[in-house]
Amino acid sequence: RSACLWSPTIQGEICKMAGLIQTQPTSSTAIQTLERIGAHSHIRGLGLDEHLQPKSGPAQGLIGQKQARRAAGIVVEMVKSSKIAGRAILMAGPPSSGKTAIGMAMSQTLGPDVPFVMLSSSEVFSLEMSKTEALTQAFRKAIGVRIKEEAEVLEGEVVEIIVDRSLTGATKTGKLTLKTTDMETIYDLGSKMIDSLSKEKITAGDVVSIDKSSGRISKIGRSYTRARDYDAGGAETKFVACPEGELQHRRSITHTVTLHEIDVINSRTQGFLALFAGDTGEIKPELRQQIDGKVEEWKEEGKAEVIPGVLFIDEVHMLDIECFSFLNRALESEMAPLVIMASNRGITRIRGTRFRSPHGIPIDLLDRALIVSTKKYESQDIEEILKLRAQEEDVAVSSEALSVLTRIGSETSLRYAINLITTSHLACRRRKGDQVEVGDVKRVYGLFLDEQRSVTYLSEHSKEFMSEEDYESGIAAD
Ligand code: ATP
Repeated sequence: RSACLWSPTIQGEICKMAGLIQTQPTSSTAIQTLERIGAHSHIRGLGLDEHLQPKSGPAQGLIGQKQARRAAGIVVEMVKSSKIAGRAILMAGPPSSGKTAIGMAMSQTLGPDVPFVMLSSSEVFSLEMSKTEALTQAFRKAIGVRIKEEAEVLEGEVVEIIVDRSLTGATKTGKLTLKTTDMETIYDLGSKMIDSLSKEKITAGDVVSIDKSSGRISKIGRSYTRARDYDAGGAETKFVACPEGELQHRRSITHTVTLHEIDVINSRTQGFLALFAGDTGEIKPELRQQIDGKVEEWKEEGKAEVIPGVLFIDEVHMLDIECFSFLNRALESEMAPLVIMASNRGITRIRGTRFRSPHGIPIDLLDRALIVSTKKYESQDIEEILKLRAQEEDVAVSSEALSVLTRIGSETSLRYAINLITTSHLACRRRKGDQVEVGDVKRVYGLFLDEQRSVTYLSEHSKEFMSEEDYESGIAAD
């Protein structure tokens, strides 16, 4: 989902870290994690207004499920303001009620700089690594490290600039940081500010605002982040006054990498290329400790910022008791991401135990989770979602066929009805039609069973299929 640009410098920095790697990567490489397309490709965001209320009608690809979207909007705000690290949210609701769709929408709303990791619980069980290692990797993929470095300015770029000049005859020497796209404005504002520095009681690290026309400067506070949020487009621009130096203009490039990427790059056995292969294997805990220490150092030196992102665990009831106890412990860590779990199960057995509990999640973990529930859709919402899906797949559907699909969606499942759009489009193309008609839907409805009809068929023809007992006795005989 997120894209990270690795300049040679930043790679070098990361690789030099703790002297853990001998050979440094040589060229800039763009690493792109593929966005999940397909089932949720019509989703562009949570579709909320500025008061975090769901907009009416289809908004950013989402329809209905207003309460859950409102809750998701609040969570996103909390993640953005870094107030909710190490918490757990449970999205609970019937199958195809939009839990994953809302998860995807949250990821889009958070933006590319905040890591968002989607994990299906079954991915944790692999022969290549232990369950806890798989979960640790997922956790560390969901923690971003924003690293700053400086490079030469090219005119016209969106830059963060340091205009730095010794002030002749002034009582203070200052270095000013501002954000703008226009080089002339930078110099103009920079000089005005330097001229006024001596008159104002502004010291290094102060955030100040400057009025473009009068050049008047007033002190706002000492938060660097406030200044960074500001754009130079408006009538007022905010600056940060920094320690002394000489006139220079540089831009600060910010890279966001994940803790997992740093782990892999520094892992002796795996190395940088493992990031492309995805075959990272297990990573030693001592290495992770060293990396955490280094990141902590960078944080203190102001070189890096830790951004706890989101780890979305789908089908969480598939995890077992060991995984749950890992989650409980991992959530206590200071750097933990926000963990969003999704489940469509009711009261069910906790895997690896004899006990049953809501959603198959141990009570102590449930107790620390905020629960957001999604509801079954009314037929009007189903119709809207099907319309959106048809548009997304570029399929023209007649209004009668859409009504039939909607009825199928209400009586079987939304997901089944969505699948029928693609298949009936194929049937339509086969007869050289230009829009899906009721006949096309009927045809594919007959060809592909929904879950209920499949169960009925199985119970009617149970004798013709192999049962679990047959299978086990077959193995015993072998
Ligand atoms: P399950 O419990 O079976 O995993 P789920 O609750 O995660 O189901 P989704 O996979 O999110 O359900 O939804 C099924 C399909 O319906 C997806 O293609 C999804 O994008 C779409 N969908 C669900 N809810 C909405 C919605 N409110 N607006 C638009 N599309 C939706």
